[in-house]
Amino acid sequence: MQDRTYTADAEPGQHATVAGWVHELRDLGGIAFLIVRDTTGKIQVKLEKDEMDDELVETGLDAARESVVTVVGDVEEEPRAPTGVEVVPESIEVVAEAETQLPLDPSGKVGAELSTRLDNRTLDLRRGEGQAIFEIRSEVLRAVREEFRAFHATEINTPKIVATGTEGGTELFPITYFGEEAFMNQSPQLFKQLMVGSNLERVFEIGPIFRAEEHNTPRHLNEATSIDFESAFFDHTEAMDVCEAIVKAAYEAVEQNCADQLETLGLAEEFEAPSGEFPRLSYEEAIERINATGELDEQLVWGDDLPTEGEHALGQDVGEHYFITDWPSEIKPFYIKDHDDDETLSTGFDMMHPRMELVSGGQREHRYDRLIEGFEQQGLDPEAFDYYTKMFKYGMPPHAGWGLGGERLIMTMLGLDNIREAVLFPRDRQRLSP
Ligand code: ATP
Ligand code: MG
Repeated sequence: MQDRTYTADAEPGQHATVAGWVHELRDLGGIAFLIVRDTTGKIQVKLEKDEMDDELVETGLDAARESVVTVVGDVEEEPRAPTGVEVVPESIEVVAEAETQLPLDPSGKVGAELSTRLDNRTLDLRRGEGQAIFEIRSEVLRAVREEFRAFHATEINTPKIVATGTEGGTELFPITYFGEEAFMNQSPQLFKQLMVGSNLERVFEIGPIFRAEEHNTPRHLNEATSIDFESAFFDHTEAMDVCEAIVKAAYEAVEQNCADQLETLGLAEEFEAPSGEFPRLSYEEAIERINATGELDEQLVWGDDLPTEGEHALGQDVGEHYFITDWPSEIKPFYIKDHDDDETLSTGFDMMHPRMELVSGGQREHRYDRLIEGFEQQGLDPEAFDYYTKMFKYGMPPHAGWGLGGERLIMTMLGLDNIREAVLFPRDRQRLSP
């Protein structure tokens, strides 16, 4: 619609065509107000029953809530209207009628279960809060891309249908590929590593990862968006620097460019981009601090993975984003390099929000013989990963990188209770459609 005016742009003196959904009808007797909503906001349309054309008034009064309408008329100043202006209509057309029984109330006055909302996402996202989350998500991805480019990283797209997974079979979704077994990729790990050995050197990818994890938690999805980074000639500390910069860039962009959305979400006051350096705790310090909180029934010992309650206790204690570094080698993946001076210590790191893990990364093992040993120790057949390992024979530089869960970033940034709020159409144990 070339001549359409967004409700937010309507100004007194304009002759305008506004298009959107019937948000509400306020009938005061001799006068009624049709509130029309579009992506930018709402506008009042005045219906004067005695003065205006009967058919026009009738169309306005009869339009069911959530029907799509176009209204043509003069925009006039009206201090009593919610936005200070109103449309005095000369025509109202119902372009697409909505049934009167709706599965949920898009005005949000009547609450709905998350499952009902996800089943009716179109209607659900007519609510301002939902719209705000996805506009912020879009801004985060824009800012992240821009920041990666400032680091001279090249955006890549790697295959999601693969012959073998990164970490073995259990978390993989099998599919049939022309009669052969294949899998949905659980991480771009191997492919992004292959690219740091090319002249691209430094790469990033924003794309789906598929995890056949059976558990059903508020922070796990079976299809998630991973923000991945990998760079040649980087060690784990340099990878952490970029990780921190990317997360800060995302927060700063939202702070600067999403004031309206934050307001809608009730976060205008409390939203704060992290400013100081993220503390870097060693795994050893982390377990000591967790033990000192007294929150766990059993004390953690060296080599234990951090239980969820431990992560929470530590997160509360630290109170901001932080890294956990120098993990025991045995609990980090085999493709992560150990420290040269202590083979029991891994260069792997996690970046944490006080509520949960956001990132895992590390320096990678780039020495061919060590890599093959790693596969064998993991019980994986190196032959099956030949496409990957053989490139390590042709000049693979030292390199490091990480993967950041996109939905977890949004979830923690906006204080959402459930990760599903940050995905349009989540995939989980119960949900394969829509
Ligand atoms: P967790 O232990 O929290 O399940 P993970 O260590 O298995 O996560 P990684 O393989 O390290 O996950 O993946 C890197 C990042 O990708 C995670 O830190 C997280 O932000 C995100 N991520 C991984 N799995 C999921 C998932 N199932 N749903 C949503 N995000 C995920
Ligand atoms: Mg991890």
